[in-house]
Amino acid sequence: MREPRDRREVYDRLIEVGTDAARRGLVSASGGNLSARIPGGETFVVTGTGTWLDHLEPDDFCEIDLTTGVVVGGNPAPSSEFKLHLRTYQVRLDIRSIVHLHPQTAVLVDALGYEIRPLTLDQVSYLRKINRIDFFPNASDELADAAAEASRDSNAIVMANHGCSCLGDSVPMAYRRALNLEDAAQASYRAILAGQPGLCFPPQHVPPLHGFAVV
Ligand SMILES: [Zn+2]
Repeated sequence: MREPRDRREVYDRLIEVGTDAARRGLVSASGGNLSARIPGGETFVVTGTGTWLDHLEPDDFCEIDLTTGVVVGGNPAPSSEFKLHLRTYQVRLDIRSIVHLHPQTAVLVDALGYEIRPLTLDQVSYLRKINRIDFFPNASDELADAAAEASRDSNAIVMANHGCSCLGDSVPMAYRRALNLEDAAQASYRAILAGQPGLCFPPQHVPPLHGFAVV
């Protein structure tokens, strides 16, 4: 998928995702936050603190230096969880967008002590490896560091009693992973209720992985 031409295109894509994620109930009120690298630069933009994902406008985005974490433009007050994005971008140089949402079923299945198991070809193709991290307070360095560490070999991380962090080489790909994660969680939840918590996509049909960076 091609890189966005300019920051306006980045904003447009993030705004589309915010609207859709809220409509689907993957966040409520001012929960969740979205980010993307700015093309050709050393910065990324992330939603501002207190912004509602279904009411985003270009002025809501805060631009942050990828090396220093200093705000360099836009909304002066980034989401309190901006460090989650910053640390992950510093670890994963190959990804361009991070979608952090609060999907209810993914959080529930994890809290019940079960794994989220992809059931369909789409889910297994987009998610590959789902990692999880323990609960850490929102906006803490511990949360940001644990999520970044978990992203070294995964593009879909479940954050206990909180939400998910999904990564991609584009905004749509990061969001597609978040949608597939919640779909897989809903399938897993139904499998648990049916008494088959180990139900998953047939391992012999998992398509070959062409290198880890399936982004
Ligand atoms: Zn959150």
